[in-house]
Amino acid sequence: MPLEARLPYRSQLLTNPTRLVVDIFGATSNTNWITQRDGLRELGNVYYEQPQPDIFRLVLPLRHAQAWGYSIDYRGTTLRIRVKRPPARLSLKGLTIGLDAGHGGTNVGAASAKGSQEKVLTLAIAQKLRQELEKAGARVLMTRETDVTVENGSRVLLMRQLNPDLLLSIHVNSSGSATVQGTSTYYRYVAYRPLALAIYNEVRKTGLKGFGNVGSFNFNLNGATEYPNALIETAFVSNPEDEKRLTDPAFQQQLAERIKDGVEEFLKSTRAKGPRGWLLREPAAN
Ligand SMILES: [Zn+2]
Repeated sequence: MPLEARLPYRSQLLTNPTRLVVDIFGATSNTNWITQRDGLRELGNVYYEQPQPDIFRLVLPLRHAQAWGYSIDYRGTTLRIRVKRPPARLSLKGLTIGLDAGHGGTNVGAASAKGSQEKVLTLAIAQKLRQELEKAGARVLMTRETDVTVENGSRVLLMRQLNPDLLLSIHVNSSGSATVQGTSTYYRYVAYRPLALAIYNEVRKTGLKGFGNVGSFNFNLNGATEYPNALIETAFVSNPEDEKRLTDPAFQQQLAERIKDGVEEFLKSTRAKGPRGWLLREPAAN
């Protein structure tokens, strides 16, 4: 999108129907047509609106019901919008998965009265999950493999560079009240809700109580728009029953297997949704 200057913009990845909406502030269209190229595999018929005199809105319908990510940047004063297609093979075999073991080094994370530390538990679970994912044929990229300090900002940058097909962050929850317990998953963008929800449903099969699948969550590793991602707060280290499970290697193994199953369920449901026929319709306004 060529512009006269680097104008501010806002983007939203929306569902039902799946579409990327980019608002450019201070822009007014000087054209009443848009070229719809042949042979596009992920984009439907792109159209624009001028909802306010100073907001130019581009709507990019996506052909797959499950969005797989996008990035926006400037090249000179041209706004470049790139949309990712889902992986060609929607199975763990051949998929690249970013895996983030929360905290580490001087950042202990949550700790219990008995001395359990979040950084130790997240690494133990992540290592077991790595094995499960690799056994299924995935390539796994870790943000840390030992007890080292890695700032969350560095983790975000690292994953953006490595550009995995999806990203999982492993954490352990904590509450001021010892009675609060259960597993929970978190996502920031509604388009990535299905990944978090699939993992939540599978992890609950371990017998952990459900604490919820939470959206619009402002965790920095969930901020990437480039790939589906989810945060998994496995269980509460502040609850004695959950803590007993979290510190048990056999239960950690169960968690790893169920999280892997959750990713597989997500891939399966993505396959089932497939591309959408509605994209063949012309937008009414244009
Ligand atoms: Zn944490």
